[in-house]
Amino acid sequence: MSVKGRALRFIVDVNVGRLVTWLRAMGYDTLYIPQIEDNDLIRIAYKEGRTVVTRDTHLAERRLVTTGRLNLVLIRDHDLEGQIRQLAQDLALTSDGAFSLCLRCNETLTSLPREEARPRVPEYVYRTQKGFEECAQCRRVYWRGTHWSNMRKDLARILEGVP
Ligand SMILES: [Zn+2]
Repeated sequence: MSVKGRALRFIVDVNVGRLVTWLRAMGYDTLYIPQIEDNDLIRIAYKEGRTVVTRDTHLAERRLVTTGRLNLVLIRDHDLEGQIRQLAQDLALTSDGAFSLCLRCNETLTSLPREEARPRVPEYVYRTQKGFEECAQCRRVYWRGTHWSNMRKDLARILEGVP
């Protein structure tokens, strides 16, 4: 059974918490629970078939991990871009599903008709953007503006040269 591919789901440990936004931006279902105990993190990962992402070598020594029943990526790099590159390299991540999830809630975004978006976004955004999407959970409205295009450029730059 391969751990590679688009069906990957993650649970991210607090010591690499900055990865959460980027994994979600790439379209990967990523759980993050800031105050979670190690045992709970392992239990949820195992139950939901999520790959654990951590810098904690002790987690990597858990029996579920060493016996191959739980996937875990031990992040080496301290630097965020290095961490993203390592994940992309080790797990053959792609950005094919990029910008399909709410960065806050991990929910799938659904398209929102322009007229419904109108009262909920600044006027200039309504005038300049064609498409809008919405998170069903937090009701945040997304559009492909400057923030989106900056993240997309960063992602392309970070993943450049990753085989
Ligand atoms: Zn949301």
